[in-house]
Amino acid sequence: MTNQQLHERRSQVIAQGMGALYPLYVEKAENAYVWDIEGNKYIDFAAGIAVTNTGHSHKRISEAVKAQLDNFSHTCAMVTPYASFVELAEKLTELAPGETKKKAIFLTTGAEAVENAVKVARAHTGRSGVIAFKGGFHGRTNMTMGLTGKVAPYKAGFGPFPNEIYHAPYPNAFHGISVEQSLQAIDDLFACDIEPSRVAAIIFEPVQGEGGFYKAPEAFAQGLRQLCDKHGIMLIADEIQTGFARTGKMFATEYLGIEPDLMTMAKGIAGGFPISAVVGKADVMDSALPGGLGGTYAGSPLGCIAGLEVLKIIEEEDLCAKAMGIGEVVNARMTKLQQSVPAIGEIRTTGAMMAIEFTDPESGKPLQEMTKSVISKAQENGLILLSCGVKANVIRLLPPLTIESDVLNEGLDKLEKVILEVA
Ligand code: PMP
Repeated sequence: MTNQQLHERRSQVIAQGMGALYPLYVEKAENAYVWDIEGNKYIDFAAGIAVTNTGHSHKRISEAVKAQLDNFSHTCAMVTPYASFVELAEKLTELAPGETKKKAIFLTTGAEAVENAVKVARAHTGRSGVIAFKGGFHGRTNMTMGLTGKVAPYKAGFGPFPNEIYHAPYPNAFHGISVEQSLQAIDDLFACDIEPSRVAAIIFEPVQGEGGFYKAPEAFAQGLRQLCDKHGIMLIADEIQTGFARTGKMFATEYLGIEPDLMTMAKGIAGGFPISAVVGKADVMDSALPGGLGGTYAGSPLGCIAGLEVLKIIEEEDLCAKAMGIGEVVNARMTKLQQSVPAIGEIRTTGAMMAIEFTDPESGKPLQEMTKSVISKAQENGLILLSCGVKANVIRLLPPLTIESDVLNEGLDKLEKVILEVA
């Protein structure tokens, strides 16, 4: 069977709304390598969208999950729970930034975590409004799609969206939006759209992910914290893409010097096993009635056991330091490349959450076609890449944090070659 044959079969049975970036069907994956069914080998700079931070098929995670499977695979944590469910919550509540005592709940997907963070914020405040940011991404369910600040493809044709959601601009130095303008825009929302006493939560990404890998300045996060404190609003940090050592800290919020009231976690939490979490201040988290939060698969034993291994690996393999090292190598190499490729408008690295934005050097206009060509040519050269950005003109680099230095450099050789070809 070939990639092409499977791709044709896929197009017959999978709706096009579930996109496919590459016509490449995986047979095997190991650390930063992926092999397709034709035996082609790729260097993976996507890590399943920032999920396998600990590398593909990490032995310790696979062994722990296999042992768990031999014992049991599901009982429903809300019916008859298990030790790993409690242990993972103990660890995450300890690791979450800030001094306030925390509690956790587990769910299955990132979007579900965001949904539940909003539910908790509403239950705690007795209010309904939520403020999110333009360019933000929070998921594909009805509430999270409403919170997401990018129309195509995430919202187009899917309205109406839930009531009482408002969007403010996210600060963005490269595109001329200052921290003051962003914070002023929230004040304007309070003046023109919704009084602050009806706002339950402000949700933000410490580094905007799908929106283009823009990092929140510290002053912005502090400004949000002050606004929330002043008006009794819950501050939710969506750490679904930024968490678990990706940015060089366990959580990117640690760069910002604030304690959010609630945090959402998923993706890197369990190295590829579907589990997500909301961790927040204990009194806030306890606002929902027993039974109001959860789900049949929420906090699956496979996810909990994998999550415990992920935390050990992050510590023992020093993945925060590794993420910083990866960011430095990529930054140095791409900055050098920028001298001969003026279409590289900006290189952004927060640890190993890294992006290159392509813009026309004269007009500053986004170069979507160039970005598309880089992505598709990458496959021909044995490299898996992702795009992002509201204008789809950014490539993001998210290799496993466990990537060996020679593999990282080989991947960057390929990337440089592809960029030089299409520039
Ligand atoms: N929030 C953020 C910041 C994300 O990056 C994502 C996924 N890209 C989500 C929420 C949604 O997660 P999921 O796809 O697991 O529902």
